[in-house]
Amino acid sequence: MLDVQTAFVMMLASVFATAAALPVLVGWPTSAGARWMNASALTQALAWACLLLARPVHDRLFSTLWIALLGLSLVCIWHALNAWLAPRPGRAVVHAAALLTPLGYGLGFGSYAFRVGWSNFGLALLLGCVALACARPAQGAGRRWRAVVLVCAVVLAVVTLGRGILGAFFTELYPELRTPHPLNLAGAMLQHVALSLITLALLAAWHGEALQAMERIAATDGLTGLLNRRACLEQAETLLAMARRHHEPLAVLLLDLDHFKRINDSMGHAGGDAALRLMAEQLRQCLRQGDLSCRYGGEEFLVVLRRCEAEQAAKVDRRLRAQLEQAVLPALGHRLTFSSGLAQLQDSDADVHALLRRADQALYAAKRAGRDRLCAAADFQPA
Ligand code: GH3
Ligand code: MG
Ligand code: MG
Repeated sequence: MLDVQTAFVMMLASVFATAAALPVLVGWPTSAGARWMNASALTQALAWACLLLARPVHDRLFSTLWIALLGLSLVCIWHALNAWLAPRPGRAVVHAAALLTPLGYGLGFGSYAFRVGWSNFGLALLLGCVALACARPAQGAGRRWRAVVLVCAVVLAVVTLGRGILGAFFTELYPELRTPHPLNLAGAMLQHVALSLITLALLAAWHGEALQAMERIAATDGLTGLLNRRACLEQAETLLAMARRHHEPLAVLLLDLDHFKRINDSMGHAGGDAALRLMAEQLRQCLRQGDLSCRYGGEEFLVVLRRCEAEQAAKVDRRLRAQLEQAVLPALGHRLTFSSGLAQLQDSDADVHALLRRADQALYAAKRAGRDRLCAAADFQPA
């Protein structure tokens, strides 16, 4: 038959091992969420170490520290959620509960009923805050790990609340934490399982965060911060399909900086890089949300304009030209122009590459016609 002492010792061993292993596995100078996760495991382990010291060393001091650290470890979990999901409401409540719970416990230590009631209510409130932080919708965040933390936090909150009610109002029924009582055995087992599951769930959150960061890096051009060609073409296919489905117009502009080799030759490679970054900045400022832009190649940029007729695309091109002209002299001290090829989506375009082929031909025509201008694919001549 299982006994409370064994269950308790097993939980302690698991908590200490987790606190030691997590920073080794995840590292410390990692993301904010992962740091809070590590901190939560460490404070949890310190909390239970304090409980072990309470009887032999100083009951009031170490028991109060135990409650304070338990609360703190929940605060850390709340902050980890805050870092991984969008900012969660209730920060003030969480901090106040973490402060007042050990304070009241320490001051009212003399009354057994009060301290058990107060501390369990405080911890249940903190667990409730963790549960709420998970339950609130968060775009793009993993649903599964959030569900695991949510269920664990709710179950622990209910049990903790139950202990608080029992301790405060039915004190003679309340079994002291270390006595061999079925409630204590169930509590220790539950705590053990819940803590392990929360650790696993937070690790999944950290993994998800790392994956998202990798995906972002894989889709981004390192120099300009724009999308790279592969990611842009992937998204362009989606825009194309949507334009087809809704019978909406779609236009692309393929831009190529003029005589860029000369800029590199005269200003050095770093000067060339600065020009590319400036061009990217103008693109970011010029485009509507929902439009796509990317660094298509060395000094070539691609713009995909949704719900856009060729005439409007030519307007975007003119605006971009004017904006670049304004920005470039003060920023770089020399002129910088580009040529562009415009093409509009047609029913006959099998995919985005067919559209781009026509934009490329138009760009070539713009270069031949003397650069610093827009040429449209043969099917359209802007006014
Ligand atoms: P054109 O007007 O015909 O487009 O002439 P161009 O000199 O711009 O064209 P070309 O394609 O001959 O040269 C492009 C240059 O862009 C060559 C290459 O060194 C430079 N380039 C490509 N990528 C980068 C980059 O990341 N940084 C810098 N500084 N230069 C780059
Ligand atoms: Mg080029
Ligand atoms: Mg060029």
